Amino acid sequence: QVRVRFAPSPTGPLHIGGVRTALFNYLFAKKHGGVFYLRIEDTDQNRFVPGAEQYIMEALEWLGIAPSETVGKNEKFGPYRQSERKDLYKQYADDLINSGWAYYAFDSSEDLDQLRKNAEEEGKTFIYNHSVREKLDNSLTNSAEKTAERIGNGEDFVIRFKTPVNEILELKDIIRGDIKFDTNLLDDKVLFKSDGMPTYHLANIVDDHLMETSHVIRGEEWLPSMPLHVLLYRAFNWEAPEFAHLPLILKPIGNGKLSKRDGDKMGFPVFPLEWKTDEGISSGYREKGFFPEAVVNFLALLGWNDGTDKELFSLKELAEVFDLNRVHKAGAKFDPEKNKWFNHQYLIQQNDDDLAKAFAPIVYEKGVDVDYTTLVKIVASIKERANFVSDFWELSDFFFVAPTSYDEKASKNWKEETPGLMRNLIAVLNTIEDFTSVNIETIVKEWMTQNEIGMGKVMQPFRLSLVGALKGPHLFDIVELIGKEETISRIEKAIE
Ligand code: GLU
Repeated sequence: QVRVRFAPSPTGPLHIGGVRTALFNYLFAKKHGGVFYLRIEDTDQNRFVPGAEQYIMEALEWLGIAPSETVGKNEKFGPYRQSERKDLYKQYADDLINSGWAYYAFDSSEDLDQLRKNAEEEGKTFIYNHSVREKLDNSLTNSAEKTAERIGNGEDFVIRFKTPVNEILELKDIIRGDIKFDTNLLDDKVLFKSDGMPTYHLANIVDDHLMETSHVIRGEEWLPSMPLHVLLYRAFNWEAPEFAHLPLILKPIGNGKLSKRDGDKMGFPVFPLEWKTDEGISSGYREKGFFPEAVVNFLALLGWNDGTDKELFSLKELAEVFDLNRVHKAGAKFDPEKNKWFNHQYLIQQNDDDLAKAFAPIVYEKGVDVDYTTLVKIVASIKERANFVSDFWELSDFFFVAPTSYDEKASKNWKEETPGLMRNLIAVLNTIEDFTSVNIETIVKEWMTQNEIGMGKVMQPFRLSLVGALKGPHLFDIVELIGKEETISRIEKAIE
């Protein structure tokens, strides 16, 4: 059975890259009728941030990709919080010591600093590999008695992985294909510390095994950990899951990984939900007015496509067509404009009733009194031009309030003959009983044709009088919606 996980460390708000990782796991699980679970990797107490776990759960919930197993939900393999599994990991570290795959190390930080310095002087990066472990103070270089004694005395130690020497690991990644790693270039990573806490590597492998993870789908930044992880499975004699490392999400401009700073600079969020700290508020997609479906759709296409030009996918459709083999190797550029475009696509799909409901509080806050049916019609006439509900007011304010000024450039069309024409127009409007868009349009145009008045001579000043600028939806829709009385009063005001 396919079982995949999202395993964030609760060190802050979920970044958009993390959200995409969660999404791809979710889609893969759905596609294969498997399980998507959420595990909280909180073994590093120094980096723990209160509220982050809650935030992660809420974000996945909002996006519609909630896990089916996690803390407090179908805890089949629980607990799902690593801090609550703390006692379990020691035994696995001990197993590796006993089988010779790990060792106790007592290195002082001075020793390590010295080695690092030596390497630097030789122009090399320091690798804690076999040549180092043979020289340093550890259970491989000491007698068993001495090691036991030191531990008994409460000396600080770490348990390190004993990386095999002179081996080329030939590994497989679903996205990247075959990858080779030279074990001599790997560090003997710390697996366990004397404070009783496992490191990420040990806890992650033990839990992926115990929670029966079939595939590890995660960000490219974890690719360098893959050889160690595969070696750990070998050391435990466990079958390793399959691996898929997702491409990075890149800055919109320039090179490198997308960061919160890019978002701040260019005015787009990189977090699903708002995140508040003492230093300030980071904006979130939800609060910015994005539809969760639009965010999901946009993220799905960051590094994946279905092989066609199709761009609009519902979550359900994605779950049907998603394929890890179609995930790209190369990083995916984040495009904030495309992001908004997706929101626009979902906005225009919403029904006008729902949009009017979302718009109503904004309108009432402006102190405008408008009936609901009219509001629905207004929304219908402007939504094509909007990306967000929050764009509505600017696109429609003239429906609610008469212009207080007139666009200067457009006012050039206001000629000497205009006031006279406008007065005649008022007279025509006054005769119209059935004050609906199509009818008004027919009658006004008839009047223009009969009197041989050019379109532009009437229509532009007419629009300017009502809107204050040459913008907005179909003019006669505006006329119907604001009504006869208001239309005439605005023209009169413009003539003055
Ligand atoms: N806890 C790791 C993280 O914060 C999990 C990495 C993995 O998926 O193995 O991303």
